Amino acid sequence: MWSTMKTTAIVLTSSAWRESDRWYSALTPEFGLIEFVGRGAQKPRAKLAAHLEPFAIVELEIVKGARSTTVIGVERREVFDRIQTNLEHRMFTQTLFAMLAKAIRPDLADPELFDEVIDLVRFLNSQISLQNTRSAFVLGATILRLLSRLGYGVELHDCLACRKNVLPLSFRWHGGRGGLVCSDCVQKNPEDWFSARPMDEEIVTLMRIGRDQSYESLMRMPLLGQQVEDFVQCVHDVYVYHVPGEIVMPFWTGVLTVPARA
Ligand SMILES: [Zn+2]
Repeated sequence: MWSTMKTTAIVLTSSAWRESDRWYSALTPEFGLIEFVGRGAQKPRAKLAAHLEPFAIVELEIVKGARSTTVIGVERREVFDRIQTNLEHRMFTQTLFAMLAKAIRPDLADPELFDEVIDLVRFLNSQISLQNTRSAFVLGATILRLLSRLGYGVELHDCLACRKNVLPLSFRWHGGRGGLVCSDCVQKNPEDWFSARPMDEEIVTLMRIGRDQSYESLMRMPLLGQQVEDFVQCVHDVYVYHVPGEIVMPFWTGVLTVPARA
C-alpha cells in the first residue's frame, strides 16, 4: 500500500545511503520523528538534497511504501542562516540534532516537542556568539530539558527513595536512576545505592538552573569552566543510561575544549 503525505519538518540528520541516495531523519509535528530516503540525493546538483540540508524548516512531501519511505518534494519555509554559516553554531546544532535523532522514538506525534525544538533553533540562530564553555553548558541544559520531555526527567529536589527534600551536603547522585538520593537512604540501603556518587552542591544548582530557567538567562549567568565540565559529565551519564545505542564520544566533543588534566 502506498500513501503520500505532506508535513512540516526540520531535518535532523542525513547520511550516505546505497550508491547515490541519502538517508534522512526529520522531526515533524504530526508524525514525530520520521526517516526517509532521498533518491539520487548524492549526485551533484541534486536539487532535493540542497533543500534537505538541515537548519531549515521545510515542507516535505513523502511517499510511504511497504519497504521504505521516500521524499518526492521539498520546499524551504525558514532558513537558519547563522547556524548554517557559523562553525560554533553549526557544531552545537548538529550535536543536538544527532542526540535528538537517537533519543526520540520514531512515529510518535508530539507537536509540543516540535515547537520546543523550533523555538530553541530560532533562539540559537539569534545568538551572535556561542562559544566553548557557554556553548557546552547550554547544550547540556538543552539535553536535560529534552530528556525530561521524553520521559527521562531528573529529580533534583527530593530523594529518589524516601521522597523527602534533600538537604545541602547530604546527598549522592545516581545518573542511571536519574537524580539525588539522601545520605540517610544510602546508609540504610548501601547495596541498593552503591553506584551513587558524591556531587558538589554547585553542580546540582547548575542542573536546576539549566533545566528550569529561560535560555536568555542561561546565556547571561556567570560560569566556571570546571563546574561546567562536571555538569556536562552528569548530563552525559543520564543520556547514556536512557538512550540506546553506542555512544562513540561525549556530546560536547567539538563544542567544549576541555583542557588536558595533569
Ligand atoms: Zn531518602
